[in-house]
Amino acid sequence: MMKALTYIGPGQKEFVEKPKPTVELPTDAVVRITKTTICGTDLHILRGNVPAVESGRVLGHEGVGVIEEVGEGVENFKKGDKVIISCITSCGKCANCKKGLYAHCEDGGWILGHLIDGTQAEYVRIPHADHSLHHIPDGADEEALVMLSDILPTGFEIGVLYGKVQPGQSVAIIGAGPVGLAALLTAQFYSPSQIIIVDLDDNRLEASKKYGATHVVNSSDGKAVEKIMEITNGEGVDVAMEVVGIPETFEMCQKIIKPSGSIPVLGVHGKPVDFHLQDLWIKNIRLTTGLVNTNTTPMLLKTVESNKLQPEQLITHRFDFDDMLEAYDVFENSADNKALKIILSND
Ligand SMILES: [Zn+2]
Ligand SMILES: [Zn+2]
Repeated sequence: MMKALTYIGPGQKEFVEKPKPTVELPTDAVVRITKTTICGTDLHILRGNVPAVESGRVLGHEGVGVIEEVGEGVENFKKGDKVIISCITSCGKCANCKKGLYAHCEDGGWILGHLIDGTQAEYVRIPHADHSLHHIPDGADEEALVMLSDILPTGFEIGVLYGKVQPGQSVAIIGAGPVGLAALLTAQFYSPSQIIIVDLDDNRLEASKKYGATHVVNSSDGKAVEKIMEITNGEGVDVAMEVVGIPETFEMCQKIIKPSGSIPVLGVHGKPVDFHLQDLWIKNIRLTTGLVNTNTTPMLLKTVESNKLQPEQLITHRFDFDDMLEAYDVFENSADNKALKIILSND
């Protein structure tokens, strides 16, 4: 048996004993989790916003661990190997995988802690292990690598790459949660001249300055658009990243975008929004959406190894795995607790 954080129904979770997973298919691996974390998406599920999640499901799609067992078809990993678990499971063989579109793998995608049991457990079964795990280099900081499961590739691929951030540009990031801050860190690969962070929480704005923001704007007074136009000499920004997921922040992006700009949407939206085509048809803008593919994870891993990227900066709290429920309490009240990423260790 093992302990696992289990979704029961909207507003209900339990930290209970469950049977250990086993290899079910030859391409599976079972991983003993040594470090995991909690994601905003887990809170969405707990609010009942992701109806595909069934009662009894183990949550979590991020973490690192040690291979416990592999199926006979697994070629790249063996028992005892240390691995990063990708939040996206991919077969590597279907038409979408061959395009690098792992988010839409025909036998995978985002399934961990969603359609199959996830990583907030002592053990997890990983389908298509050869394509869905990454080796941890010797001596690497394993806490930092937990950020490679989801938030760094999401901020980089869906924010920075889809937004086509270029040297000298002005970038606004609306929402300074873990994914917004991951976009802030990785946008700096391309040396934009301005990175403006917008949020309601002064603690997060203060943290953003340490991570490389050139300007911060607290939007609680309703004047964020005016402030951003002032910072950009009335021009607006080249890239307006929406990293909150509510109509108001998408509205803000449409007001601050300059001609030929990009609006990459990273937020998880639950309601319809207005798109002001009557204003924007003439502005040559690009609007992109997306679920992370994690095809950039090997590249991001190299930047962490070389210390060019320091994602451990985003870790604010550490707990023992057994204190899972306390960690959830802290993360659910992240503003009061100044929480960004929480590491749960079981080693
Ligand atoms: Zn996540
Ligand atoms: Zn596939």
